Amino acid sequence: MLKFTTNLFTFDRKKFLMLFKEIIGNSTIKQQLIDTVKKNRVSHAQLFFGNTGNGKLALALAYAQYLNCENKTDIDSCGDCSSCFKYKNLSHPDLHLIFPVLKMPGSKTSTSDNFVNKWRSFVLENPYASLNDWSEIFDSNNKTGKQFLIYKDEADVIHQKLTLKNFESPYRVVLIWMPEKMNLEASNKLLKLFEEPPKGTIFLLISTSPNKLLPTIISRLQKIKVPDFTKNDILTYLDKSLIDTEKSKKLIAITGSNLGKILKIESEQLEGLDLFEQFASWMRLSYKTDIVNISKWVDEIAFMGRKHQELFLSYAIKMARECLIFNFANHKLLKTNEKESMFILKFAPFIHEENSILIIDELERSIKSINRNANAKILFFELSLQIIKFLKVKRKFVIN
Ligand SMILES: [Zn+2]
Repeated sequence: MLKFTTNLFTFDRKKFLMLFKEIIGNSTIKQQLIDTVKKNRVSHAQLFFGNTGNGKLALALAYAQYLNCENKTDIDSCGDCSSCFKYKNLSHPDLHLIFPVLKMPGSKTSTSDNFVNKWRSFVLENPYASLNDWSEIFDSNNKTGKQFLIYKDEADVIHQKLTLKNFESPYRVVLIWMPEKMNLEASNKLLKLFEEPPKGTIFLLISTSPNKLLPTIISRLQKIKVPDFTKNDILTYLDKSLIDTEKSKKLIAITGSNLGKILKIESEQLEGLDLFEQFASWMRLSYKTDIVNISKWVDEIAFMGRKHQELFLSYAIKMARECLIFNFANHKLLKTNEKESMFILKFAPFIHEENSILIIDELERSIKSINRNANAKILFFELSLQIIKFLKVKRKFVIN
């Protein structure tokens, strides 16, 4: 498990291991891949293709790890040798990762190396995610509207890397995710590498639209069509993740067996739960005028990206409204879970008719500023000072 711990809130996320046994279904393909290694018939350029949300990237990574595992069994990598250890974080020096990137304003080169750590954590969290999910990570920080591509620079860099003779494992793996995003210059340069591959180098391409690749490239590749996960595979998987069957069936119906999307929906709900902890500590600190810890809290939320900040502010508005409902109406009208209701029971006396409009207005204004690229640190600090002031406003009368 990847554990993000801060002073104020904690949440867990599963981190995937790139082992065959971690990937549901696909038993025929797994066996075929393992056989290529056993029979020493590993093709130097292979294309894993199929729909978004299936196991093609996970399978390619498990295969790369298996190729280099020092203690492989008949069915999987060992998971413990020094090669597997480096594959665990996708940081093996002989694993080269190429994926679409944005051309950043002011940067001379546009290569995957500039974003590799971001991509590693993205994949380790959800190896079934889509290109669209990858682009969303950028959109929250950067609204250039530019296309995600694999640029010519990438081909130059990989050429240079592959001319270095010394490498430590039997196979050097170049993994290209979404090769259909290569521009023409990059395609032509990489084609030369596929035609005359450096010794011991395996190219694994993972594509959702192989028909967009140059025919000259396609003809060089051994093709592996990866099918969608079956409903039963997904049900078994979600059952192990303690998701109840009814909900699992709904998720499958909504996404059409797209495991990437299912994991995304689930992880967003997980973050949704944390909003409560984040909100409750903010209110407690503001109530106590604890400026030192408020500024730590501000640093944390400033770090979390615009999407989360916007979600948090909308959640804060919802909670302020619930406090008001609690003060004026029956608590049965609350649309909150148990934890939230307990908090409101104690905190509602401080958010009332005299200050709730002020608080909600301020929160709404902040959402607009976030969307206009305001500096999050300054914004949340000033907002906290406002909240401190508003919480001190006394009720003129109390309704019983
Ligand atoms: Zn191993």
